[in-house]
Amino acid sequence: MSHNAGKLFVISGPSGTGKGTICAELLKDIGNEFSVSMTTRSPREGEVHGREYFFVSREEFLDNVEKGNFLEHATVFDNFYGTPKDMVLKRLEKGRNVILDIDVQGGLQVKQAMPEAVLIFILPPSLTELRKRLEGRKTEEPEIIEKRLSKALNEIRFIGEYDYYIVNDDVDTAVANARGIIMAETSRVPDKVRPIIRKYEQEKGE
Ligand code: 5GP
Repeated sequence: MSHNAGKLFVISGPSGTGKGTICAELLKDIGNEFSVSMTTRSPREGEVHGREYFFVSREEFLDNVEKGNFLEHATVFDNFYGTPKDMVLKRLEKGRNVILDIDVQGGLQVKQAMPEAVLIFILPPSLTELRKRLEGRKTEEPEIIEKRLSKALNEIRFIGEYDYYIVNDDVDTAVANARGIIMAETSRVPDKVRPIIRKYEQEKGE
């Protein structure tokens, strides 16, 4: 990859932590692009095929697994979710930063496949606050909320595998922190500095 290739950012965290809102804000910044996942879950009201997700059947999903089309895939709340590999790689090659909003199982697979990916974990201020937010959504049944809280704690146990964490107490502050991480990571001197030096040598005619 050339020195001006984009960076891959994985944003994970329990549902209800405001991951979606943070990602939406980051996507307003030039150079950041969202990777649209494939899922077998049904679309929620207002969701559009190809925008939030590619909504597919289980057969179609498994066919993609078999063909090796996913960078990672996982089962989340009884549905399959996966990140289409091609789209991510093409965008990185074009120098775009790619943002994945995926769960911890997926994040760990991405780190294995692409150790240069940057993993950011979004934490709720507390589980009590997370419960309040989930209840406030009024879209989930009580037993689903309990399931999500258990999954939240299980996910938090993996935070040590992530590179950064952000506590989402106040969304503007959380977004500012995420922007700071992206800015710092995209300014990091890469391991292979030769292409950068070469660019300046060529400019000087050496
Ligand atoms: P939801 O169904 O509420 O949109 O998402 C449920 C969970 O699945 C969220 O934690 C979200 O980050 C995760 N998710 C969405 N797309 C993917 C994906 O492609 N791979 C993995 N591993 N998780 C995903």
